[in-house]
Amino acid sequence: MTIEPNHEILFEPLKIGPKITKNRFYQVPHCNGMGHRWPRTMAEMRGVKAEGGWGVVCTEECSVHPTSDLTPATLMRLWDDSDLPVHRLMVNKVHEHGALAGIQLVHNGQSVSNYLSRIPSIAPSPAPNETSNSTQARGMDKEDIKTLRRWFREAALRSREAGYDIIYVYAAHGIMTLLYQFLLKRFNHRTDEYGGSLENRVRLVREVLEDTKDAVGNDCAVAFRFAVDELLGDEGMNRSEAEDIVGSLAELPDLWDVNVADWGNDSLPSRFGNEGSQEDYVGFVKSLTTKPVVGVGRFTSPDTMVSQIKRGVLDLIGAARPSIADPFLPNKIKEGRSHEIRECIGCNMCTSGDYVAYPMRCTQNPTMGEEWRKGWHPERISPAASDESALVVGGGPAGLEASLALSNRGYKVTLAEAGERLGGRVIRETALAPLRQWNRVVDYRVSLLSARANVDLFTQSKITAQSVLELGHGHVVLATGASWRTDFVGIHHRFPLTGVDAPMVLSPDAVMAGERPKGPVLIFDDDHYYLGSAIAEQLATEGLKTIIVTPSAEVAGWTHFTLEYEHIQVRLRELGVEILCNQGIKAVGEGYVDLSCVFTGKHRRIYASSVVPVTSRISDDGLFHELEAHRSTWEKHGLKSVTRVGDCYAPGTIAQAVYSGHQYARNLDMPVDPDIPFRRENDFEEGKAWPEVSV
Ligand code: ADP
Ligand code: SF4
Repeated sequence: MTIEPNHEILFEPLKIGPKITKNRFYQVPHCNGMGHRWPRTMAEMRGVKAEGGWGVVCTEECSVHPTSDLTPATLMRLWDDSDLPVHRLMVNKVHEHGALAGIQLVHNGQSVSNYLSRIPSIAPSPAPNETSNSTQARGMDKEDIKTLRRWFREAALRSREAGYDIIYVYAAHGIMTLLYQFLLKRFNHRTDEYGGSLENRVRLVREVLEDTKDAVGNDCAVAFRFAVDELLGDEGMNRSEAEDIVGSLAELPDLWDVNVADWGNDSLPSRFGNEGSQEDYVGFVKSLTTKPVVGVGRFTSPDTMVSQIKRGVLDLIGAARPSIADPFLPNKIKEGRSHEIRECIGCNMCTSGDYVAYPMRCTQNPTMGEEWRKGWHPERISPAASDESALVVGGGPAGLEASLALSNRGYKVTLAEAGERLGGRVIRETALAPLRQWNRVVDYRVSLLSARANVDLFTQSKITAQSVLELGHGHVVLATGASWRTDFVGIHHRFPLTGVDAPMVLSPDAVMAGERPKGPVLIFDDDHYYLGSAIAEQLATEGLKTIIVTPSAEVAGWTHFTLEYEHIQVRLRELGVEILCNQGIKAVGEGYVDLSCVFTGKHRRIYASSVVPVTSRISDDGLFHELEAHRSTWEKHGLKSVTRVGDCYAPGTIAQAVYSGHQYARNLDMPVDPDIPFRRENDFEEGKAWPEVSV
């Protein structure tokens, strides 16, 4: 297949300072939870994106000095020459495929507490640390500013030595970057030439841009990443100040990388915004500079990308999440296979890698983070190692992904789903309006599977132990899912709750299937991720008086890591949902629920007509146990293995279900060490050049 003519503009080269990118696909800097701690894992992941056609592939943020040590996050560092080998690993992988490598140098100022280095952090003006345990950042004097400029200059020189093509000056993402802290009135209270007027607040950014250009500008492009709006009105960066800043620095950088702050507005979850959501904010930048402009917007549609370029909004299509969900997105467009793009669903499971400090994972792309440690490639998989056929029972994310990956390997696959539609829990969950865009998990897989000659898809086909044996497949994959409990057992209540008037209780599965509780409805959220608040949002939108109760100090606490948290809090309050924290359930009677304070046990009565407990799930593994009971007859029926995957094995996230199905398919008939099935990086001597220190 060949490129569609109207997409050709996406493959036109573009000059960025002294460099030329081969096309308009630009992987903007993004964290990944791998960084300096798992450098090969990180480098291979970046290399696969370059292989997939991205013209520019950047690092995550890279700290220039231990006064910004970012611990416990796992990002990059360029503090001295001993950090260079880690960077060379990445640069070489990116260059291997003809892409440009970019590095995002950063000092985080007051937003870090320097748990590793124990050096007090620095800020434009004295301020508490964001991650404060009562520590504060000290205000910088003029000498500190000179020193900071030297650190940036030295890091730029080291970046060039490592082989980077594009070097960033980074002032974006709210409080996260020191240079942005200097730009913002609420953090910069200085009375010298670095504070007060906008011209003064911009001074340091201008100096660092000039220093960087002076240091490396003939050899490397210098990019400026700038958040044009914080959506805080006069309190923060806004259109009026941003226009002045872009106007005054217009031709200084070689590239403008523009976005909206903070990170939760930049990597906006699909629950709160659509593709291209930043256009209204960043659209003005191109009118004030002749330099190329890159921006993001969870772009997965080539037509939207073309439109952004043709209408003069952007020159380069920036992407973090779409490049994570499909590292081969550019090549698929180039080869006229855009229907095969694995589109990002905007769930932000990937951002949790940074917050929780684990190698990033992706709901759509199960190979993300596994490129080096497991040797998984997003577009290549080993051929089938036997002639056996596989029966996959259950068409949720685990069953769909197992079927697709098995089919890719060349196995003959039969997928049987009891329900009317394929999709399992994704169909159920996306019946809730807030989660609708997650449908892409199903759409991507079903559209590919439907076209496969080696796959038979059956719906309304409930499989029993008897039918498994009669069908005579060599391998059976049980992806039969899990069901939400209604007995309140979860993190808080470890035993089934007694004293519950059963007709008052409706399971989350029933609500998602379309049953409606009577109002007022009380949702008991002891799951702490997205579902409790999504059900509350749905029911409140439908006009039901909704109360959400949680044993935690906050509703949907885990969504801090997916950048959904603040948006969820706003949405629930706007919808008038009543929120009660730090409460367990004591009793449920007709028309009332007795709550119990998690600290004191003190009771409190709430009047409600129904209760939806979102606590935990039980695997639907009855079929597995039935088949196990007939193990002696397997051989007679040619059955070699029965394996549970996804929620049937262990209830978890959709990402975990997809990964589990994929892992099954990768490992079938392959020699895999069951104890440690991935390569570690224990032999990597970071930097190799740490000086000997005598004590
Ligand atoms: P996962 O997240 O692990 O993929 P889901 O709950 O999304 O799990 O999907 C499980 C699917 O399996 C559901 O669509 C359900 O209808 C289907 N299923 C469960 N038991 C059977 C069975 N015995 N035969 C066929 N399909 C089944
Ligand atoms: Fe997109 Fe979710 Fe994958 Fe992140 S984890 S890239 S948001 S699909």
